[in-house]
Amino acid sequence: MSELTSLTIAEARRKLRAKEITALELTDAYISAIDAANERLNAYVKVTPDLARVMARKSDERIAAGTAGELEGIPLGIKDLFATVGVHTQACSHILDGFEPRYESTVTQNLWDDGAVMLGKLNMDEFAMGSSNETSYYGPVINPWRAEGSNQQLVPGGSSGGSAAAVAAHLCAGATATDTGGSIRQPAAFTGTVGIKPTYGRCSRWGTVAFASSLDQAGPIARDVRDAAILLKSMASVDAKDTTSVDLPVPDYEAVLGQSLKGMKIGIPNEYRVDGMPEEIETLWRQGIAWLKDAGAEIVDISLPHTKYALPAYYIVAPAEASSNLARYDGVRYGLRVDGKDIVDMYEKTRAAGFGQEVKRRIMIGTYVLSAGYYDAYYIRAQKVRTLIKRDFELAFDAGVDAILTPATPSSAFGVADENLAADPVKMYLNDIFTVTVNMAGLPGIAVPAGLDQKGLPLGLQLIGKAFDEETLFKTAYVIEQAAGKFTPAKWW
Ligand code: GLN
Repeated sequence: MSELTSLTIAEARRKLRAKEITALELTDAYISAIDAANERLNAYVKVTPDLARVMARKSDERIAAGTAGELEGIPLGIKDLFATVGVHTQACSHILDGFEPRYESTVTQNLWDDGAVMLGKLNMDEFAMGSSNETSYYGPVINPWRAEGSNQQLVPGGSSGGSAAAVAAHLCAGATATDTGGSIRQPAAFTGTVGIKPTYGRCSRWGTVAFASSLDQAGPIARDVRDAAILLKSMASVDAKDTTSVDLPVPDYEAVLGQSLKGMKIGIPNEYRVDGMPEEIETLWRQGIAWLKDAGAEIVDISLPHTKYALPAYYIVAPAEASSNLARYDGVRYGLRVDGKDIVDMYEKTRAAGFGQEVKRRIMIGTYVLSAGYYDAYYIRAQKVRTLIKRDFELAFDAGVDAILTPATPSSAFGVADENLAADPVKMYLNDIFTVTVNMAGLPGIAVPAGLDQKGLPLGLQLIGKAFDEETLFKTAYVIEQAAGKFTPAKWW
């Protein structure tokens, strides 16, 4: 059984089509793996074995009938942020207590239309606010990776920590995730998995619980570059229900894997060398540069001068939009309700009990920066900075750069309940230093594992591309993967 769960999506797809295995066998193998591991890893907040078996049986019927879809019979985990009909959708918040939507998100519907099987809902930071998966109402996710010779519990990153941990521990073949400031790429880097945040507008946001609507974007976390390419192809679509989704054909991303990098220009931004960055990250970056050079790419130094303003501007724009989006959770329509002496008292008690500390902090910051008198000083100014960040990238691409290579994170996975971080939320925010620029500019970014640090923990590199040029990212990330190899944690759970 256990070896079924070690198949990549591409391998499982081949075996399913060749009728060497059935979708039901594959699904059962994952359900057993989840049952055995979830108590320790806490990656799933809801497992849906009955539904999974029903879906798997239907997949087997379609395979037998010769009508299999692109993802037929592939068992996936779904981040708790995506609305799934009749199934737990709480953004891992207490305020959405008991919420089971009557509608399906477009991204998950696309996956089911292609034949994928849902195993359940994955843990995440509450409302996707966090970098360690510790703000979840359901408790932290434990990273399947441990430092060599240590049994200290490490975080899987966030906010898509459940997605990354489940993929790394083989508790699903692949997972959906979302990225507002780094929530796909940072957890992918912390777990030795591949995560791509596509261009804003590539995937529909409809039915995905909103955090910061101008930054949120769905994407996959997968075991390797090929699987990420397969998943994004199914997830992406234009959608009449999301007017920010873009009507461009979805390319066959898999087709570009293995293509040469000859003639490509890779930009190396000077501003991504930050103070206090471990030497190992610098070495990894140099290694990545060498691999791409060997593959025929030309390496050029570039400057993205507004990079240093990205994080502060993000922490104005994102909370501003969040404070507005989260106004709807008032105890009236869905989720938690704490009764009060009148309706205002009910609102206040519900929101006080329903939101966690980090979410409350964001709502307060957001409300403040949008308030009369501060709107121009903070919100408008942050939007102007955003335009400048976007322009930095445009100038680099206009000068002939095809993609930009940076580290994915400033460190490897850190410990659960790290005292240093708990004391100062800004230290936690610094995790996003290499990833938020991409969201601010609406561009695609991929994190691909590139090596292990001295402690034996995975480290990732990031590639940033032009809008709607995910193909170049897949092609280039594949070269890194071929050179670096793939990384799987030793099983202890
Ligand atoms: N860590 C960032 C934050 O807390 C990004 C989260 C995300 O991308 N959803 O806002």
